[in-house]
Amino acid sequence: AQPGRDEQTILAARRRYLNPTLSVSYRRPLHMVRGQGQYLYDAEGRAYLDCVNNVCHVGHSHPAVVAALAHQAALLNTNTRYLHEHIITLAERLTAHMPGDLSVWFFVNSGSEANDLALRLVRAYTGRQDMLVLAGAYHGNLSSLIDISPYKFDGPGGAGAPPWVHTLSMPCTYRGRFRHAEDPVAAYVEEAAGIIRQVEEAGRGVAAFIAEALMGTGGQVVFPPGYLAQMYALVRAAGGLCIADEVQIGFGRVGTHFWGFETHGVVPDIVTMGKPMGNGHPLAAVVTTPEIAASFVTGMEYFNTFGGNPVSCAVGLAVLDVIEEQNLQEHARRVGEHLKARLKTLQERHPLIGDVRGSGLFLGVELVRDRETLAPAAGEAQAIVEAMRERGILLSTDGPFHNVLKIKPPLVFNQEDADRLVEELEGVLQEVEQPA
Ligand code: PMP
Repeated sequence: AQPGRDEQTILAARRRYLNPTLSVSYRRPLHMVRGQGQYLYDAEGRAYLDCVNNVCHVGHSHPAVVAALAHQAALLNTNTRYLHEHIITLAERLTAHMPGDLSVWFFVNSGSEANDLALRLVRAYTGRQDMLVLAGAYHGNLSSLIDISPYKFDGPGGAGAPPWVHTLSMPCTYRGRFRHAEDPVAAYVEEAAGIIRQVEEAGRGVAAFIAEALMGTGGQVVFPPGYLAQMYALVRAAGGLCIADEVQIGFGRVGTHFWGFETHGVVPDIVTMGKPMGNGHPLAAVVTTPEIAASFVTGMEYFNTFGGNPVSCAVGLAVLDVIEEQNLQEHARRVGEHLKARLKTLQERHPLIGDVRGSGLFLGVELVRDRETLAPAAGEAQAIVEAMRERGILLSTDGPFHNVLKIKPPLVFNQEDADRLVEELEGVLQEVEQPA
């Protein structure tokens, strides 16, 4: 072991000094001291294959990103009220990835700040407050975002939805409320239309619909084709805006496209992004149209002390460089396809696996005790995560029932890693399925 405090001492100090609501991963917590590529290393030097960190997008401690950060930090770091090239170059390069009129940028420090600002923009543009959100969705840790996150307000410690927040059924093809409907998309959209009518009958109007195109905390949920396009049309016809939360899925992770919303062929009014954008450095952003941005000009400045500083922008530029130079979007498509196919083969042999879904390197494996009733296998999911950790593979669970294994590794995750993940998972499934 390296010199320093041992696990028990650190745990005790955490309990004494840190946020008491903070959880720790694994029954036997891990003490990580180093990261490289798709690997994390603990204090004993043991390597763990990271299948779950979608923040360190281009790989842990990527040398090009670290060098860009260090170089700029040694040169200059100030706020955005001086002229500086990096912020402009970053805005230009990101705009090149955006469809339509999405070209006005606000740089912030977290996905939460981005979504909070998106709420302010829709309120400024529409003069309305009512929001449509998806069951199971999470959009951030600020008060304003707990208000629009069913994952939190309908979960432990939550106080339910505020009167201006309207929760739509999760349009999940596997478990969703209308999955057996003749036309599930029509059923979900009709449910939303009914809610919009109620809001209008109360003398108000819908400000916006916010959704991830592939849900993260919701359990790596894939929507039926056409759902997002029809929802966008419905909301716009009612005078509302459409926000795409790309905080988890953006920057090429879904493989076929740079942004998740592109897989549905829609163009949002506002896009928020974060996590992978800075590869672990706090960098996030909101992009919108010149028209919506203009409605935000009321005399009150939006200023963000750290947002868009030269160091953060240097990091953001380096991340884009690496994605391009290493062709990571195409890599995610190829490796993700291979991994998904192998997981589907596993599903044929293991009744516990009810569904394998997702796109690129954003995959979910939903575990059920019964393929008819879909009874969630949450205990089994937890046991698998723990057993995989003992085998040196980091996984985690998500979804309202905590029964979906989430797979969203750094994009440098390769085919051999995928094969190892599947082989170890097969071994662990055999253990878990053994009658006690
Ligand atoms: N949106 C989504 C979809 C997220 O998953 C998260 C974080 N898990 C956030 C927003 C909030 O981002 P941050 O934690 O950077 O504030």
